Amino acid sequence: MPLRVNLRHLEDDELRLEGELPTAELELGLKDEMCRTEKPLRYEIEVQEMEKDLLVQGKLILPIQCECVRCLKPFEFVLELPHWTRLLPMEGDEKTPVDNDCVDLTPYLREDILLEFPQHPLCETDCRGLPVKEGKAKKATKPGVSNQEPSAWSELDKLKLK
Ligand SMILES: [Zn+2]
Repeated sequence: MPLRVNLRHLEDDELRLEGELPTAELELGLKDEMCRTEKPLRYEIEVQEMEKDLLVQGKLILPIQCECVRCLKPFEFVLELPHWTRLLPMEGDEKTPVDNDCVDLTPYLREDILLEFPQHPLCETDCRGLPVKEGKAKKATKPGVSNQEPSAWSELDKLKLK
């Protein structure tokens, strides 16, 4: 079921909507294999009738299963819109479509979630990428330092010995 607001329920009060929306309903049309949405979108929103508009505001949370573009490690990214706000005009040229007294909020959710979607997911902002397998050039813990220093010292030792 898409996320719909029944305008009749709004006539004398604001409406609170809370729940989960399966991402299949959002039709995000993801082609990027680095990000998948396996869990539903959680929403807590309030809908109010303003003079000629419908004010929708609340919180959206969508966990996304990502794969780091550098090291391919899977991780979960939580897309959060804590102050999601949309003003939907109910009159004029830009009038929001109403079907059987209901306004479908799903297209607006889709639009704003896609805007916030991670483009280049990284497991950590300073992810170093795949570990280098060849040689002893890099170790995972202290790359550079642990390897270069001893060799520098051993070079010095050789010099001293001469
Ligand atoms: Zn990574």
